Amino acid sequence: MTTKAQSYLTHFRNIGIAAHIDAGKTTTTERILFFTGRNRNIGEVHDGAATMDWMEQERERGITITAAATTAKWTRSGTGEEYVVNIIDTPGHVDFTIEVERSMRVLDGAVAVFDSSQGVEPQSETVWRQADRYGVPRIAFSNKMDKTGASFELVVNDIRERLGAIPAPIQYPMGQENEFKGIIDIVRRRAYTYTNDLGTEIEEHDVPAEFEGKVAEMRQQLIEAAAEVDEDLMMMYLEGEEPSVEQLVAAIRKGTIEKRIFPVLCGSSLKNKGVQLLLDAVVDYLPSPLEVPAIKGKLEDSEETVEFPADPEGELAALAFKIMADPYVGRLTFVRIYSGTLTSGSYVYNASKDKRDRVGRLLKMHANSREEVTELRAGELGAVIGLKDAGTGNTLIADGADRVLLESIDVPEPVIKL
Ligand code: GDP
Repeated sequence: MTTKAQSYLTHFRNIGIAAHIDAGKTTTTERILFFTGRNRNIGEVHDGAATMDWMEQERERGITITAAATTAKWTRSGTGEEYVVNIIDTPGHVDFTIEVERSMRVLDGAVAVFDSSQGVEPQSETVWRQADRYGVPRIAFSNKMDKTGASFELVVNDIRERLGAIPAPIQYPMGQENEFKGIIDIVRRRAYTYTNDLGTEIEEHDVPAEFEGKVAEMRQQLIEAAAEVDEDLMMMYLEGEEPSVEQLVAAIRKGTIEKRIFPVLCGSSLKNKGVQLLLDAVVDYLPSPLEVPAIKGKLEDSEETVEFPADPEGELAALAFKIMADPYVGRLTFVRIYSGTLTSGSYVYNASKDKRDRVGRLLKMHANSREEVTELRAGELGAVIGLKDAGTGNTLIADGADRVLLESIDVPEPVIKL
């Protein structure tokens, strides 16, 4: 049951973007921040020149994708519902395995970016296994559809064969390589093309006749995969009934959260640059903080574990996951709040260090600005200024609460250098 106090969480997505080096993680993240920063949606008309200016300015100033967690907003195309998307920086390098693992703990879902001309590369396999160990639900983005050698089928097959996962293609490219023109949404049976190179405008069309057969076949396979994870859909399938778009989305979402299926999308973050459909898929298929298992903690001197469900009115439980030095404000401690509410100016108990510490100011980091806030609630991520003792991986709980440590980070498996 979701209480009234928890209801905002249904519109929260805490995600990471994971990729093999060069697959296009930076480009994709920049595009996501560009669109979420300005909330550009399907059907909106924009002045191309203004867009260019903004991009140039941002390039000069450098978009803050180095923040450990960036808070963005996305309005779902079509429904107009507003979502908060927190993008957690996941280091892409195999050498940073421990850091990758640490970031895996604070995100609820991930977008795995693949280079469609390369398929699933060895390093992507490593990150994928780490995500498996932390039970992170994922959607896959087959990027670089415009590149010579690009093949959507290659990525889909590699997901099945190299990663041993069940791919569920929810999109299909209209043309590949030089001929890449747009994307078909298999669930909705609609086609989308970008009308300019910045991808700021999307046009929706009927599925072109040449793709109708392929789309029908893929949709049938998608329904079969979704029926495997959803009994209602299975009943409908057995009775030969066609599910509605909403039913199909709900079943795929369930399969994604249970990690039994992996939606696969495609696009080009360089050529058409539009990531709106990717953002829509993030809110459609990746879980809210309410849909992932509650984090557990161990009570001191006891075998007892306690759970901290995502609830702003619950006991405070937060994890410091990254410390950064900031030239203006000094030490920034990035935290994820799992339960309760962290308030500026309050005292917390650092259970890992067995020390009381004072929270100074609280910040939410956006792509091009910082917002000072008075509190961070369950499910939120942000930065604390003022904590003296907190180190990476430390548990922060309410001052005066019984000492409890959030699940420790497993010792990572030896990293195989590839
Ligand atoms: P990262 O290492 O995963 O962060 O990858 P980058 O985002 O830096 O991209 C690596 C290279 O691939 C850069 O030269 C990009 O311009 C290029 N790239 C990224 N996305 C695309 C794409 O969709 N199509 C093509 N052709 N190149 C891309």
